Amino acid sequence: MKSRLCKLLPALVLCLIFPLFAQNSAAFDTALCHTQPTLIKGQETIFYSYLLDSENYVRLRDVAWFLRGTDAGFSVQWDDAQRIVSLTTGGAYDPLGTENTPHESGPFDPSLALPPTAQLLIDGQPAELSSCLIDGSHYYRLRDLCAALSIPVWWDDARRIAVVGGDPAFENRTVMVDAGHGGSDIGAVSQWVGYEERLNYAVASELAGMLRAAGCRVVETRGEFDTVMLTDRMAQVRALCPDLLLSVHHNASDSHTATGATVLAQVGDEYGGPSKTLAELLGAYFASQGRPINDILFRKNSLGRDYYGLLRAAADVSVPAVITEYAFIDHPEDSCCVNTPEKLTAEANAIFLAVRDWFSSLS
Ligand SMILES: [Zn+2]
Repeated sequence: MKSRLCKLLPALVLCLIFPLFAQNSAAFDTALCHTQPTLIKGQETIFYSYLLDSENYVRLRDVAWFLRGTDAGFSVQWDDAQRIVSLTTGGAYDPLGTENTPHESGPFDPSLALPPTAQLLIDGQPAELSSCLIDGSHYYRLRDLCAALSIPVWWDDARRIAVVGGDPAFENRTVMVDAGHGGSDIGAVSQWVGYEERLNYAVASELAGMLRAAGCRVVETRGEFDTVMLTDRMAQVRALCPDLLLSVHHNASDSHTATGATVLAQVGDEYGGPSKTLAELLGAYFASQGRPINDILFRKNSLGRDYYGLLRAAADVSVPAVITEYAFIDHPEDSCCVNTPEKLTAEANAIFLAVRDWFSSLS
């Protein structure tokens, strides 16, 4: 019995100690004192943080200070006796005057980022966010914090700025993202990159994620394996009347010789209007990625390719709408621009940036 206890005791001790550090290990390989240009609720500022293993770590009070008075605001209390940090969503933040203390950017000794010594409660519930203790203050991984509080956060690569709390361009905007074809409708077929519906879904779902992260409301017309009839998609557009309908397709031609990116725009804007403006922006971003650009198309009739019906449905309810055809997947060279996940992400990013610019131009 004694020997069993002796064997169990170290394990028991480990079990008691380990949970304290298991979720919050502060052993980092790389560290940087960071001065991060950041757009918070539309206000451009410098966020003083630490970049630990390439992840942004921030103090709760700094974030609370930036977000004070907004819907995403929260209050922070510190219980020194119990070593508990309490974050209350919607609470009014009481500034200390020491928030976002400037520091020089540059290398930082990662061994100075210590394991956390406090428990975090969010609205009274224990929260496990990756965190560490630097110079007496707790720092939390920004990505975890924003996820826990449902605060949009994303990196705007074009502007080289972090965006917290949503981009004002997307405030109160609803975008319907339509991944063309799907399920039993495979769309065009490429001997190099497979079924069109798979590419459409990959780009559309990534685009939807980017839009949501930027604070946009997104409605997707289909799930990954769904077969959704065109008439049902048209009904969705008419019922929702979103601020924008984006339909993602990839092209093919009868001759298998056509190339380039094509955007089809809602027919009501043929002689100028928001859909045509967006189509031009999409063309510019696609061109910046090296894509040859074809003329913007306005199709009044189905011409046997019935997905144009979506644009007709959008025109019925005056919803700006475009269909993107980033490449001809039945062409050996054109298909090369959609043959890796990274290239599909680049395509989604180009669409995202065009939509962002477009919404900005409207507001
Ligand atoms: Zn298609």
